[in-house]
Amino acid sequence: MKNPSVANDGIMKINAYTPGGAQMGNEVKTLYHLASNETPFGAPDEARTAIADLASHLNLYPNGGALELRSAIAKRYGLKVGNIVCGNGSDELLEFIAAAYIGQGDEAIITEFGFLVYKIAILANGGTPVIAKEVDYTVDVDAILAAVTDKTKVVFLANPGNPTGTYINAGELNRLHKGLRSDIILVIDSAYAEYCTMADYNDGADLVEGNENVIMTRTMSKIYGLAALRVGWSYASDGIVAVLNRIRGPFNVNSAAQAAGAAAIFADDFVKMSIDHNDKWAGIIKQRLNGLGINITPSHTNFLLIHFDETGKTAEEADRYLCSQGVVLRRLEPYNIPNALRYTIGSNEANELVLSLLEKFVKL
Ligand SMILES: *Cc1c(COP(=O)(O)O)cnc(C)c1O
Repeated sequence: MKNPSVANDGIMKINAYTPGGAQMGNEVKTLYHLASNETPFGAPDEARTAIADLASHLNLYPNGGALELRSAIAKRYGLKVGNIVCGNGSDELLEFIAAAYIGQGDEAIITEFGFLVYKIAILANGGTPVIAKEVDYTVDVDAILAAVTDKTKVVFLANPGNPTGTYINAGELNRLHKGLRSDIILVIDSAYAEYCTMADYNDGADLVEGNENVIMTRTMSKIYGLAALRVGWSYASDGIVAVLNRIRGPFNVNSAAQAAGAAAIFADDFVKMSIDHNDKWAGIIKQRLNGLGINITPSHTNFLLIHFDETGKTAEEADRYLCSQGVVLRRLEPYNIPNALRYTIGSNEANELVLSLLEKFVKL
């Protein structure tokens, strides 16, 4: 090997993923980390109970097919257990999809402000990411359809989007699917489905049931509070499931993740409480920040894209100030969104602090 720091061309085009909060040095203690869309409520009690006795069984391999977890998900959402595949986080499922369907010379469509993991997974498999422009930070179905070529293999769509927080409705999602050739896989990443309470929203499950070329991915990292354990799941046709099961590691979801996920999925009160908290604060934050000239892209998630253009200050200055006070929001340079930060709605105390700090900041 000539030089081990040089790998395949596609891999060399990847900008390694930087997690939210990477800008923080060690000088200041972080009081509130509002940069990764984590819930402020911890995990549901059911999840903790479920993993409590695992310590005495660490010598045993997990259930290879995550059967209990898949059964629980199927029951909770009224889905077919045989069409669910679980992952070590939904990130892993996105990587499986790219590995399965994208090769050298293939194209995959992502949207302008799409989730960074898609691009990494496409490049890692030798594919070319083709970018469909968004309008007002919202996915544009016509732009996606116009980006299709005979090399297109996969379309990756986050709905609602991250870091934008916007969504497209069921009619638009259907129009997108209808406009794609049947040999193109449509990935509907519904990581924030629980937070999107719009009546015309569709998480994609029913599109999966009628079609062979649709995959819905979901995560228990966000509203269910299991980010540490990595619990993701997907719902797809028999054919896609058979493919994903070929490349999935035999024990890809660990025992703690399976047990906690299967228990937490029924924590409806926890989910409801989380949505109510989120909606309440989204309204308060919008009102108070708009009063400061900070505009917010309409969000259907647990985070807000906040824009500093009309404050006469920059997002970078705001971020430096907030970090100096122990509050970390998400920088958006990796997403090419200028002069904005992504603010994950936090606890009452965290939100009060962010608002009072931003009020001070714009007057500095
Ligand atoms: C957080 C997030 C994921 C990843 O979730 P994991 O299950 O933790 O891997 C996937 N897609 C989007 C859009 C996300 O924001």
